[in-house]
Amino acid sequence: MGAITNHLPTAELQALDSAHHMHPFTAGDELARKGPRVITRAKGVWLNDSEGTRILDAMAGLWCVNIGYGRDELAEVAARQMRDLPYYNTFFQTTHVPAIALASKIAELAPGDLNHVFFAGSGSEANDTNIRLVRTYWQMKGKPGKSVIISRKNAYHGSSVGSGSLGGMSGMHAQGGMPIPDIHHINQPDWWSEGGDMTPEEFGLARAAELEEAILELGEDRIAAFIAEPVQGAGGVIVAPDTYWPEVQRICDKYEILLIADEVICGFGRTGNWFGSQTVGIRPHIMTIAKGLSSGYQPIGGSVICDEIAETIGGGEFNHGYTYSGHPVASAVALENIRILEEENVIGHVRDVAAPYLKEKWESLIDHPMVGEARIVGMMGSIALTPDKDKRAKFASEPGTVGYICRERCFSNELIMRHVGDRMIISPPLVISRDEIDILITRACTALDEAYAKVREDGLWKAAP
Ligand SMILES: *Cc1c(COP(=O)(O)O)cnc(C)c1O
Repeated sequence: MGAITNHLPTAELQALDSAHHMHPFTAGDELARKGPRVITRAKGVWLNDSEGTRILDAMAGLWCVNIGYGRDELAEVAARQMRDLPYYNTFFQTTHVPAIALASKIAELAPGDLNHVFFAGSGSEANDTNIRLVRTYWQMKGKPGKSVIISRKNAYHGSSVGSGSLGGMSGMHAQGGMPIPDIHHINQPDWWSEGGDMTPEEFGLARAAELEEAILELGEDRIAAFIAEPVQGAGGVIVAPDTYWPEVQRICDKYEILLIADEVICGFGRTGNWFGSQTVGIRPHIMTIAKGLSSGYQPIGGSVICDEIAETIGGGEFNHGYTYSGHPVASAVALENIRILEEENVIGHVRDVAAPYLKEKWESLIDHPMVGEARIVGMMGSIALTPDKDKRAKFASEPGTVGYICRERCFSNELIMRHVGDRMIISPPLVISRDEIDILITRACTALDEAYAKVREDGLWKAAP
């Protein structure tokens, strides 16, 4: 077989892809019929495909390319680290400078006494670590009965067996024997879809109360932890009503439940602070990090752990670890990413420039006839598509039908926006400029108009009963 490079015709690349490459979260038959877009290069917020098309990536890859594509500094750091020390492990009483430096830096940035980092290769792995961490912690505290972790329906915590069980995605639970035992799911704080006649404030309190009800029902002596994303990402950028988080914090404090904030998306500036916990005002015992930690330039994740848990577990041996925990190249690249976030004041740019401008533009989409809700926190936003905004109605068609049509229109207008059911979501690189936000919104409006016309044409403009 000859070399497979960017110079091959797109159709040939697509045929090879379809023959040998199984894609995550993708219907293979449909992909083979349509052929995937082949991405070849990227710079800033812009992707190039094999046909030479320039596409605005309003998803920052998968919520991760916070500093934008194509930063040479990270490539140089990676090359240097590969020459000096491409690999060594941190098992069995050894360490190396990239892991030391990155752990120290994360401890400095993390709020409160979150001073300890256990590294993983991804967010999924880090959440698997968290399951074992909190259960081991309670064992060591002489309370081995505290093994249940409460999570939320429609949460996303990863795709391994452990993290997929923590998540509340029913489609995932239907395949391959998930969830594992002792994971309990309560409802999400999605007022738009599930709030009924309640005000958002009432609904936030009601959904937080479900945590207390679950604790009382299962028994306080059985609950190890509650895990949640400060803002649900893959579930559709679900922003909890203001009343929700203070009440969740009160309940965790009252019953001595460990709080795990899954910061894989919210961390490293996405919500306008270093961490989403700061934006929603909670004090977690553990934070899961990945994605924006390295801006996706290297696969790396981790658990950031408070003094009390680290000291308790550190008193014995924690029989857990990954070959690539604290990988030197990934650690060095993550550290360089954080240096850029700090020195270029990227989070200041989000807070003072990009987020306020994007919010104004994004919220104006509410004027579109098909948009019922437009929410945004920092640089993650969603719109709910609806045939009847006053009633917050769902479409009569299979959920996701209209969202998919809209996503296709985004695609053909050179904009990457994702659909979750009939919601459209964005999470652009944090470095996006005002001009680029204008282009994003213009293309989103065109896509919405085209999708709206198609929905009408196809007879899909009907509300579910
Ligand atoms: C993406 C994601 C994960 C999983 O991270 P991977 O690196 O894909 O394993 C976990 N939690 C949240 C909130 C995520 O968005």
